Amino acid sequence: MLAPLLSFEAPPVLFQDLKVEPEEARSILRPQRDDRYGFGYALSPYRGCAHGCRYCYVREYPHALHGSSDWGGWVTPKLNAPELLWSQRHKLHEQAVFLATATDPYQPIEREFRLTRACLKVLLDCPTTRVLLHTRSALVLQDLDLLKDFGDRLTVGFSIPTDDDMVRQVVEPKAPPIPTRWAAVERLVKAGLRVGVAATPLMAMTDPEGFARRGRESGISSLWVGSLRLLKNDPFYEVLARNQWLKVLDPDYVEEIRGILQGALPAVRRGTRKNPGKPCAQPVVTRLVPPQPTHPSLFEGIG
Ligand code: SF4
Repeated sequence: MLAPLLSFEAPPVLFQDLKVEPEEARSILRPQRDDRYGFGYALSPYRGCAHGCRYCYVREYPHALHGSSDWGGWVTPKLNAPELLWSQRHKLHEQAVFLATATDPYQPIEREFRLTRACLKVLLDCPTTRVLLHTRSALVLQDLDLLKDFGDRLTVGFSIPTDDDMVRQVVEPKAPPIPTRWAAVERLVKAGLRVGVAATPLMAMTDPEGFARRGRESGISSLWVGSLRLLKNDPFYEVLARNQWLKVLDPDYVEEIRGILQGALPAVRRGTRKNPGKPCAQPVVTRLVPPQPTHPSLFEGIG
């Protein structure tokens, strides 16, 4: 593990306009007691998320003390995350761990802090633990060698909520471009990893058939759609209205896209919600639709 750049006591530092306030976390594994989510614990090496997606409702969680106005403008690295995880690894026997429910584990600052990487190294030493890693960023490729060491114990999920990078620039202005995500997906698959794509929360699509084709040709093993959930009085509603994208709130639109995308992958075997990352000899193509909310980074609760 690289030495952290900051200590707990260090004052906030600006990394290219990002306010970084490291902390010593009190806990790192958050139990997920609802079987439908398919993992026993959530693990978030950071609080806050520099991707700052405009629909992200983590911005309203109680831990987001900065309020939603500067969501995406601050990140709190949990500097002791790997050590905490190591001390609690006894909980992880035959469990699945999800990274991350309330942050992107490969947001840009991971390049400096390597907390996700350090946590993964701990998880690698837990031989019965499965790992579900979910991101929007090609930065995940910096850990490719480490990820390969997990073998069948690891599934990588990519959120690609739209096929149109113009839409992405409005709804996720600080997150990586859509073509970069597909390129990363393809590299991961080529390296032998099991990769799923989540069109979630579903945003406006220009060519859903083309999106489905891209998924099939890239060799991913799952593709699913999840609908958007707005906060109360969510300013994101105005963004949708201004751009004439309110259809993403229409269940019929979501169903239509879901039908197109899920029809693209032949079902080899249905995964189970309880155990979607179960080791298997063959890649598992699931038509699984995760429970709501379906954006893994937006599951209820915080890490
Ligand atoms: S949706 Fe995910 S990637 Fe986007 S800001 Fe929220 S936690 Fe970060």
